[in-house]
Amino acid sequence: MSNAADLLRTAGLPPLEARILLMHVLGWRRTELITRDLEPLDPDAVARFEALCARRVKGEPIAQLTGKREFFGLEFDVTPDVLIPRPETELLVELTLEAVADTPNARVLDLGTGTGAIAISIAHARPDARVWAVDRSNAALDVARGNARALLDTARAGGPVSFVQSDWTGNVDPSLLFEAIVSNPPYIASDDPHLEQGDLRFEPRGALTDDADGLSALRTIIGNAPFLLANRGALWLEHGYDQADDVRALLKARGFTEVRSMRDLAGIERCSGGLFTA
Ligand code: GLN
Repeated sequence: MSNAADLLRTAGLPPLEARILLMHVLGWRRTELITRDLEPLDPDAVARFEALCARRVKGEPIAQLTGKREFFGLEFDVTPDVLIPRPETELLVELTLEAVADTPNARVLDLGTGTGAIAISIAHARPDARVWAVDRSNAALDVARGNARALLDTARAGGPVSFVQSDWTGNVDPSLLFEAIVSNPPYIASDDPHLEQGDLRFEPRGALTDDADGLSALRTIIGNAPFLLANRGALWLEHGYDQADDVRALLKARGFTEVRSMRDLAGIERCSGGLFTA
């Protein structure tokens, strides 16, 4: 009979990945992998673990194999229909929360919500805020709605997050004005070799690349956001490691002020934003 110690030793994966998949299959906490390491395991669980390891070896992302990824202290459901939340995107949430820190009942719009990680993290941190979350993909909106139900107090009047099917701002009610607009759009250029590497091969292509120079979604959002921003409303955008200069230039050309970029934990200028005076 196999036990956890045997399985982890023979998994053929980096130890951390093997532990995550085994914890997922057994429903165990990390400490149980140590305290119960020699316990004989149910052959079904062993078979499921081995099947997940085989898929991982072929490259499927851990977050898709477990269906979960932690972001901003919350656990989000993840499917192949959505981008897997990245740790660097927590910076975008922090900057947006800072932008509305002094505004009670702030209205926030998240463009291209995917899992809903950004919108839901903001609504969780600011229960008084009203958050709208947009995605072009109905499959993504289903995932995001499920995450909102699991992670937020959806009994609240109107719900803490409103979901809208829309290609960027196209279907957003033009009478709404937001104190902050935030987006982590597809910003990888279509010819970037990273698209053929690692987790990205298994994520929705439309969440990663604009199928152009990497800046076209950022241009569209910067062009249209002013129509939906309240006076001195903030726009914060995530972008690629080499796009900060271009994004700041686009923001300034569109009339944004106090334009600046912020570095992620790796020291890369990862987010840029500014204010729009109506
Ligand atoms: N940060 C992601 C990556 O480089 C890309 C996400 C995006 O295009 N918004 O893997």
